[in-house]
Amino acid sequence: VNSPIEDRFLTDWSGLRRGAPSELHRPADTSEVAAIVRRCHASHRSITVQGGLTGLAGGAVPADGDVVINLERMNRIEDIDDLEGVMRVQAGATLEQVQSAAAAAGWYFPVDLGARGSCQVGGNAATNAGGQRVLRYGTMRDSVLGVEVVLADGKVLDSLTCLVKNSAGLDPRFLFIGSEGTLGIITRLVLKLQPPPGPPSAAIAALPDVASLARLLRHLKQTLGGMLHAYEFMSRRFVELSVSLTSVGSPVDPSAPWAVLVEARGVQGQTVEESLQAALAFALEDGLISDCAIAASLSDVEAFWRLRQSTPELLTHLKPTVNFDCGLPLRHIPGFVDRVDARLRERFPAAQHLFFGHLGDNNIHLVTGPHREEDMHSVDELVYRELEGHQGTISAEHGIGFIKKPFLAHTRCAAQIELLRSLKRALDPRQVLNPGRVLD
Ligand SMILES: Cc1cc2nc3c(=O)[nH]c(=O)nc-3n(C[C@H](O)[C@H](O)[C@H](O)COP(=O)(O)OP(=O)(O)OC[C@H]3O[C@@H](n4cnc5c(N)ncnc54)[C@H](O)[C@@H]3O)c2cc1C
Repeated sequence: VNSPIEDRFLTDWSGLRRGAPSELHRPADTSEVAAIVRRCHASHRSITVQGGLTGLAGGAVPADGDVVINLERMNRIEDIDDLEGVMRVQAGATLEQVQSAAAAAGWYFPVDLGARGSCQVGGNAATNAGGQRVLRYGTMRDSVLGVEVVLADGKVLDSLTCLVKNSAGLDPRFLFIGSEGTLGIITRLVLKLQPPPGPPSAAIAALPDVASLARLLRHLKQTLGGMLHAYEFMSRRFVELSVSLTSVGSPVDPSAPWAVLVEARGVQGQTVEESLQAALAFALEDGLISDCAIAASLSDVEAFWRLRQSTPELLTHLKPTVNFDCGLPLRHIPGFVDRVDARLRERFPAAQHLFFGHLGDNNIHLVTGPHREEDMHSVDELVYRELEGHQGTISAEHGIGFIKKPFLAHTRCAAQIELLRSLKRALDPRQVLNPGRVLD
């Protein structure tokens, strides 16, 4: 227990602040977590669970009087089973640590996101993180085989299986992955590793309109199949600002309305550059793309990714921002983007509105700012209203936390919300764990 509590434990990447917690614990193992939770359960104290604090929905931000459990010291890679291709790890290990340990053992951990150096695999599981490889390997849910969880009364649930299938009743891991710390604290995980892919080939293509983004994606899926490793789109204004904030020049015509970063990888030892070139040459002839640059070296590949991963600089430059993590069926994306862009520009002409994200898995991020505090709710309302009736989500990968809670009904029907409420009541009747996140 520290006193006073350092500032870094009071907020996450959303910038939300709620108050001053009364205790901070940084346990080293599961039994220490369980002991703290048992004590809080007995005395009806509220716990805030913290991973790497890179969350964008405010879920790890404590309120006045909270007991904070921060997992940063639980960062041990416990075991790698080379025969199965699985890793057992404590929940506080960073994503980068897990990726490096997998690589050192001749395997590959495919979940990857810009915050890899700070976010923790426990936090990734709690938010069901997505990132830039979902297209090929799925979300965090698809990479977790088993979990150990401390429940709200302090009991330890051990479901640390390495089995790929187990139909002996409901699989407990799916209750906790994506539950944002509201149903249990994930303390250890068994992660599924993949064979390492071959060297990356990457390109940035310029597109004439937003509808071409989905058509190019279909073409690349059909021609490259499982080799398609990433498909990340960026609006013209995103590319312009990214170029000015990083030292990377735009590899394609910067006045093109849309750009997409495509990455392809085969199996180990296989180069896929020719296949990518052929697929893009066809797209150029067909008018799907208007311009294209193919990486000639690994440093080009890195520069392309640098352009796309400039979000921390963009967020700082445009702050205070309102950030979105929407998901939509591909056929509804052009209408959504055009309507939201037009309405934002009309209503907030002094702000910038940047679209980008993991379009390969239906995910559209939007950063808009700077905005005045009193306008932020209207910005949210304006964007979420456009999702309605289109089978969309207000959170494709970041979670609901506090920030998106007022808008949950835009994406979940009353019956789904009641089911989530029943689960919370059944597993945490005293509202000990992360109270007020996702639902009231
Ligand atoms: C630059 C940048 C890029 C990003 N890119 C992506 C991206 O591409 N895809 C994506 O999905 N996200 C992205 N994010 C968001 C963020 O990194 C993810 O949501 C990440 O999974 C959060 O992990 P964390 O350890 O930082 O969790 P925290 O922020 O600490 O917590 C997030 C939530 O999980 C709960 N939690 C944390 N650890 C545990 C645990 N062990 N048990 C139970 N509950 C827990 C917290 O209470 C909170 O509700 C990005 C963030 C940044 C800053």
